[in-house]
Amino acid sequence: MGDAPDVLIVGGGVIGCALAYDLAASGLDVTVLEQERVGAGVSYGAGGMLAPQIEFAQGGPGLEWGMRSLTLYQEWDEAIRQRIGFGLDLDLSGIVRVTNTPNAWGPSDPFIRRHTQMGYVVKRLDASTIREWAPQIHPAITSGIWVVGGQVDAYRATRMMAQAAVSHNALIRSGVMVTGIEDGCVMTTAGRLCAQMVIVATGAWLPHLVDVPLKPVKGQRLLVALPQLLARVPIFGDNIYVVPKASGQYFLGATTEPEAGYDQNPTLEALMDLGTAAVGLFPELRHASVIEPWAGLRPVLPGELPLIARVPRYERVLAVGGHYRHGFLLAPITARIVRDWMVSNAPLPPDFSYQRFETA
Ligand SMILES: Cc1cc2nc3c(=O)[nH]c(=O)nc-3n(C[C@H](O)[C@H](O)[C@H](O)COP(=O)(O)OP(=O)(O)OC[C@H]3O[C@@H](n4cnc5c(N)ncnc54)[C@H](O)[C@@H]3O)c2cc1C
Repeated sequence: MGDAPDVLIVGGGVIGCALAYDLAASGLDVTVLEQERVGAGVSYGAGGMLAPQIEFAQGGPGLEWGMRSLTLYQEWDEAIRQRIGFGLDLDLSGIVRVTNTPNAWGPSDPFIRRHTQMGYVVKRLDASTIREWAPQIHPAITSGIWVVGGQVDAYRATRMMAQAAVSHNALIRSGVMVTGIEDGCVMTTAGRLCAQMVIVATGAWLPHLVDVPLKPVKGQRLLVALPQLLARVPIFGDNIYVVPKASGQYFLGATTEPEAGYDQNPTLEALMDLGTAAVGLFPELRHASVIEPWAGLRPVLPGELPLIARVPRYERVLAVGGHYRHGFLLAPITARIVRDWMVSNAPLPPDFSYQRFETA
């Protein structure tokens, strides 16, 4: 192989950067090829929430892997801080879900019963404890729950993972677009490159390089600023979530637009809907300054769980993507699964296989 790296990772989103970090930290020689720059895709503007119990409310493998990823986040935050002097800005103060329905989440509530039976923590909140987490919430909100979880700053965490990978001698090549795949090699705008393993982690653009039943799902969000403290943790309402960021800004999200294809333009209609819903939850937001409207493409597969699997017909090409709403939540565990497979020969979990599409 000469100077060929052990691993070529295509795509510098949170998934590609998490892979680069964990594989490089294990001593593998890693190169990342990114067509624009690190975090240029949907990882740029995500909410960065780590909310397994809310996102996988029904339970199942997503919830189990999400919980394992949360534990890994604590390790990674510490290890990356020690390594490069900055962590992932991880905040695990929890997630609050509120509703306009009075007296919701009674003792026989199915969500509480299910999660308690599975051994996960759910705390019921009354009007006054809701306000400890969200001092400026609408006076009509009196029912809520607290669950474990938290957040990172999406773009910053992606960049810190990349920087930590570089500190372990990974090479990040920005502005290199991959145009085709062969077994163990890629054709790029900078020539043909080969490695022991090619990992395709191009998010919503995965189907442009490998055969996968993946679709983009447009999501829009609005970033605003307000001097008042609205909330201390991410707050999920019935039709909006509001995430207080360490910068003092608030993330208002998000739309789900499966029919929009690869369109990434924010639209006035969607932003007005987000603004109206957010003001309904936090009336003070009507005075907020708009910092940045944004739209990105979530990569979704049937079943809404990612793919972490060897691409059929190839020995040396792995597809890692389709994380949909959970790319940040699942980034560390995704990378750890691939690392254990590459370094310790552990099997890849069937939850993330190609075969599940055939049986679906
Ligand atoms: C509004 C919104 C809010 C969200 N909030 C959350 C949240 O709170 N928590 C959470 O866990 N998830 C959230 N998500 C989902 C999350 O953003 C994604 O699951 C995650 O960012 C996917 O990461 P990725 O690395 O697979 O994709 P991307 O970040 O899109 O990275 C793919 C990279 O590949 C590059 N690329 C593409 N094609 C090529 C090529 N041919 N050659 C070289 N490079 C290429 C792209 O430029 C891009 O940088 C949200 C998404 C949206 C839209």
